Amino acid sequence: MTETSIKNASVAVVGAGTMGRGIAQVFAQGGLEVRVHDAYAASMEAAQKFIGSMLDKAVDKGKLSRPDADATKKRIAFVPSMKELGRPDFAIEAATEQLAVKLDILRALDGMVAPGGIIATNTSSISVTKLASAVSHPDRFIGMHFFNPVPLMKLVEVVRGLATSDETVAETCQLAEKLGKTPLTVNDHPGFVSNRVLMPMINEAVFTLQDGVADAKTIDGVMTLGMNHPMGPLALADLIGLDTCLFILEVLHRDLGEDRYRPCPLLRKMVDGGRLGRKTKRGFYPYE
Ligand code: NAD
Repeated sequence: MTETSIKNASVAVVGAGTMGRGIAQVFAQGGLEVRVHDAYAASMEAAQKFIGSMLDKAVDKGKLSRPDADATKKRIAFVPSMKELGRPDFAIEAATEQLAVKLDILRALDGMVAPGGIIATNTSSISVTKLASAVSHPDRFIGMHFFNPVPLMKLVEVVRGLATSDETVAETCQLAEKLGKTPLTVNDHPGFVSNRVLMPMINEAVFTLQDGVADAKTIDGVMTLGMNHPMGPLALADLIGLDTCLFILEVLHRDLGEDRYRPCPLLRKMVDGGRLGRKTKRGFYPYE
């Protein structure tokens, strides 16, 4: 993609969960035409509703004009099959964090993107280099790691796989900037920078809770008031999803092979018990 084509790029997003819906919204707000597909119709319906209400709230707060909000909604089409994603210039998968699921999606996208197009993954922890094995142009494959909630978080961690070309990195960074984000480029390695640093802190907070050092509110209070973190690690884990945190810690533990990444048994117990954080309305805190 050239600088001009980035401006007019058509975008495909696969996965319309917590991240996919936010990613679709920011691309559409950046003026790009977006098609979204999720394997579950209910996920797409929820995503459409969610994006609509986020844009309406922005209008109510005076942060967005009504015509801009309506135009943004119109730029997003939810499609019931992968085939209907068309021939995108840029495709990003934001589906469930499972290798087999992502490889299947990427193989399908490989035959769909326009010549010279880019395929990206929003994975939090799976090797970008390994995912690149599903596509025929690994030099045009990259990690574009957004943060939750996508419309609010400035950072995009751009992850360079072993074969990712300099052009692909440059174009992805330009695209991120067009969305009003700040791209920071890192190399492919377990957890990249963000989760390599964040997840051990979250895990340690769960061990601290498990050891009875303090309750959840106090642990988070120490980190917000004492360390100036905007949100405590346990509240943040609830926002990310405890299943996602566990999965990332398992990847760090397995791929880096060090005991310090061993997931806390309490985290595992909570996931086993279906307390996944905000998305199930119960994690370290209740959400009603
Ligand atoms: P989620 O569970 O909210 O959404 C995943 C979506 O993928 C679901 O709607 C599911 O129906 C859909 N899906 C599953 N299989 C599919 C398939 N074969 N085809 C199309 N859609 C399919 O998960 P999420 O939190 O949005 O995470 C998505 C990705 O983003 C993961 O790779 C995750 O690691 C990454 N990520 C998550 C966060 C976070 O804070 N939650 C932050 C950064 C990156």
